[in-house]
Amino acid sequence: MTSTPTTLAVAALTIGVGMMLWFLAEYLLHRFAMHHLDGRGIMSREHLEHHVHSSWSFDVTHLLSWTGVAVVGVVLWFPVGWWLVSTSTGVLLAVGWALGYAFYEFHHARCHLAPPRGRYGRWVRRHHFQHHFGAPMSNHGVSLPLWDHVFGTHRAPGRIRVPRRLALPWMLDADGELRPEFAEDYELVGRDVLDDRQAAIDRARAFASQAPTE
Ligand SMILES: [Zn+2]
Ligand SMILES: [Zn+2]
Repeated sequence: MTSTPTTLAVAALTIGVGMMLWFLAEYLLHRFAMHHLDGRGIMSREHLEHHVHSSWSFDVTHLLSWTGVAVVGVVLWFPVGWWLVSTSTGVLLAVGWALGYAFYEFHHARCHLAPPRGRYGRWVRRHHFQHHFGAPMSNHGVSLPLWDHVFGTHRAPGRIRVPRRLALPWMLDADGELRPEFAEDYELVGRDVLDDRQAAIDRARAFASQAPTE
């Protein structure tokens, strides 16, 4: 019998490894399958569309992503963990992988929809909005900076210049100005005008992985 008694620590570690596998996939997919493909294929197109508007809302493509993540967990990470160690390792690895994805989805949505809370909330927004507004070919990891450091694509944000037309709703007060509590991290630039010409420029630049003009 090869039933392995799994201690809590080993279980937590295995889930952690599964999450790290997701965070690596998050980096690679975001960099190569989304930005490098310039809009070819649904994954790249949907993501660059996200850059055009810098907004987030639930979409059926999220269900496709969840399905893909579940399939990879079941047909790849479960067998790998099972083959390397045991059935429970396979399960925990796949669970960690899915948890990593859930962590990413949750924090990415929150970045766009809600103001920061706590140190991580502030960090993840600055790291991600440097990617949106500063240099879209950097900071491909959303959840963690690790893989950007490993692959040399990390850019530490200064005060991030946010075009007014793309400002996140939570940044703004009732008059449409930057809330003072965010003045250290962000500044609003340009005019809040989105005419056809500007919309076309925003789309072209997003699909070329270039930062939006001010
Ligand atoms: Zn985003
Ligand atoms: Zn991106």
